[in-house]
Amino acid sequence: MFVCWIDELQWMIIACSDSRVDPALVLGLGLGEAFIVRNIASLVPPHSKESGHSSGASAIEYAVLHLKVEHIMIVGHSRCGGIKALLGMKEDGSNRFSEYIEDWIAIANNASKTAKAKCSHDSPFEDQWTCCVKESVNVSLWNCMSYPFVKEAVQQKKLALHGAYFDFVNGDFQRWALNYRVDEPESL
Ligand SMILES: [Zn+2]
Repeated sequence: MFVCWIDELQWMIIACSDSRVDPALVLGLGLGEAFIVRNIASLVPPHSKESGHSSGASAIEYAVLHLKVEHIMIVGHSRCGGIKALLGMKEDGSNRFSEYIEDWIAIANNASKTAKAKCSHDSPFEDQWTCCVKESVNVSLWNCMSYPFVKEAVQQKKLALHGAYFDFVNGDFQRWALNYRVDEPESL
């Protein structure tokens, strides 16, 4: 268990449903200390009325506009099965294996492309896997910014977005901030 820096309901945490990475246990959270959403691979869908991914979107809306959290942290983790499945998906859909799962993890398609480009074919699959988890967190951070109420709160410095990676094998917990500058909103 980690020494927790979270002491009030100022944080929203988005984590994977994987039973090995319960954020309340990992971060030592007590009741009432964080607003938590868990889903396959800790993903945030982009802002869209048509995507059908309204569960995550409504949770973010509630956290930002009603709870007025000051931080959103997206936590990826080592050996994430959802991200492993993402890396195995073929672009033409020829190896489809599920009715719903692939449509969900496809949210992080760009992370898969980035990880495959960054890691050579000679490197161990574990390296590509780890890279893809971290890149998927970054995709979700930018997807957060596609929600107008999130973008506005970040620009007004009322809200900060953080990425994190939890390695449950060696107990390492890394955290980083979204690299966002107010003077480059057009790139969002
Ligand atoms: Zn996972």
